[in-house]
Amino acid sequence: MSENTDLIIVGGGISGASLLYTIAKFTDVDDVTLIEKEREIAAINTHRTNNSQTLHFGDIETNYTLEKAEEVKEGAELLAGYLEGTDPDREMHSKRSKMVLGVGDEEVAKLEERYRENGFGDLFSKLREIGREEIEELEPKVVEGRDPSTELKALQTPDGYVVDYGAVAKSFVDAAREEEGVGVHLGTAVENVDEDRDGFTVETDDGDFEADAVVVAAGSHSLQFAKEMGYGEHMSLLPVAGSFFLADDLLNGKVYTLQMKKLPFAAVHGDADVHDDGITRFGPTAKLVPTLERGRISTVSDFADVFGFSPASVLSYVNILSDRILFPYVVRNLVYDLPEVGKRAFLPNVQKVVPTVDIDDIERAKGYGGVRPQIVDTENKELDMGEAKISGDGILFNITPSPGASTALKNAMTDVQTVLDFFDADHEFDGDAFREATIENFPRVDDDGDATEEADGAADGDADDDSDADGDDAEEDAADDDDSDDRVPAEADD
Ligand SMILES: Cc1cc2nc3c(=O)[nH]c(=O)nc-3n(C[C@H](O)[C@H](O)[C@H](O)COP(=O)(O)OP(=O)(O)OC[C@H]3O[C@@H](n4cnc5c(N)ncnc54)[C@H](O)[C@@H]3O)c2cc1C
Repeated sequence: MSENTDLIIVGGGISGASLLYTIAKFTDVDDVTLIEKEREIAAINTHRTNNSQTLHFGDIETNYTLEKAEEVKEGAELLAGYLEGTDPDREMHSKRSKMVLGVGDEEVAKLEERYRENGFGDLFSKLREIGREEIEELEPKVVEGRDPSTELKALQTPDGYVVDYGAVAKSFVDAAREEEGVGVHLGTAVENVDEDRDGFTVETDDGDFEADAVVVAAGSHSLQFAKEMGYGEHMSLLPVAGSFFLADDLLNGKVYTLQMKKLPFAAVHGDADVHDDGITRFGPTAKLVPTLERGRISTVSDFADVFGFSPASVLSYVNILSDRILFPYVVRNLVYDLPEVGKRAFLPNVQKVVPTVDIDDIERAKGYGGVRPQIVDTENKELDMGEAKISGDGILFNITPSPGASTALKNAMTDVQTVLDFFDADHEFDGDAFREATIENFPRVDDDGDATEEADGAADGDADDDSDADGDDAEEDAADDDDSDDRVPAEADD
């Protein structure tokens, strides 16, 4: 016997949960079912221990172009608005200072250029340039022990949302469950998706489900399902695991360092934990692994499925990893997970943020960290940073590396439009109600501290599909004038 539903969402991380919430609350689609293989929502990359808990606005991420920052900002404001509206007791998030630190003449000049000339100061009205004294007031440990003659500057904002994305995903599912026609199946693994004339049969280890449309939001596994169904031919994945180191309360908020030239993964940052400001987390590292999930050997064969072992895949990997900047970085990152040696090797990264930190002050966060599914374009043999959507007839596959948690509601808004198109516009999306529950609660101030109308036009429900539909949004760091070859694009991460 099989169950019938209008839409099936595969995967209960923040992507699947956001879509479930948006469909259930703001459309008139009758029946929607979410299927998650784990016994709880958000057990994989979305879990609070497995990512950096940052709501990325694009203000302090020095590897974002202005265009990328504009895109991410809207997504972050949707989620921040949701948190402001539904989490007044701060059970799912906390709000702290957030800054990116420039140390020395060159880095300070870069920050000033970014803020004053590249448009970031205009785009982010709450972002401020602050000097040594103010940095010290906000984050004493960042200044302590630093050579007073070294130039120091930061771009700082109060919009340092620290988010337990796992709790947010659960809240989306709980809210969706208040509506009729919503089914949630936990501990149920999807084994196969079959397309036939009447729609889709989703085969699970607990029976079959029939649906008119399917959205696969299964993290790295989305590409595996896509490939099994003949999609995503020119894509592969580079799974990049990220680990963290923990210390006692060294920081009050988030302190990012300047992005390293040409590296596609975020420079190390220090973050106060969302639920415990007595813990500061440093990371993440970037280690290549042959698995789709952290520490799960059983997903090696899943990785083999997405890798494909075609000449194009192999050549793409060789091309990407032979980059003269990326290769040594990758090797260095392999060391960080080794006992004791790893901690010693990682220490200088922490000292960039907190100079007085000693080897005994940090410990590797055991059991923390996830895997970023970085997309490889096997046609052009390069890394495509950012998210990817593969759209078929009645089926959509989402692959969401960082900042996929920050942009989950924006992605959901875009996906709702695609899903409604699958249903030949028989259903509607209530964009006004969606905006009211999300972005309209986001607090705004302009440079004078007055409220602005910045939100106008944002999240208007038109869902003009500006997402990375073809997985082709690799962007260069505009300010980066390094002359090394351009095979590895620098962009958003963690
Ligand atoms: C080290 C690190 C740091 C990061 N930091 C940040 C950050 O600070 N800010 C930010 O915005 N983003 C960050 N990210 C990225 C963010 O964590 C992801 O973009 C986000 O969690 C992706 O959510 P998801 O729902 O797409 O995937 P996941 O959270 O991986 O969820 C996918 C779900 O699909 C389920 N699934 C898979 N296969 C099946 C199947 N066969 N049947 C049923 N269910 C299945 C899985 O069990 C899982 O629950 C970070 C990522 C990493 C690894």
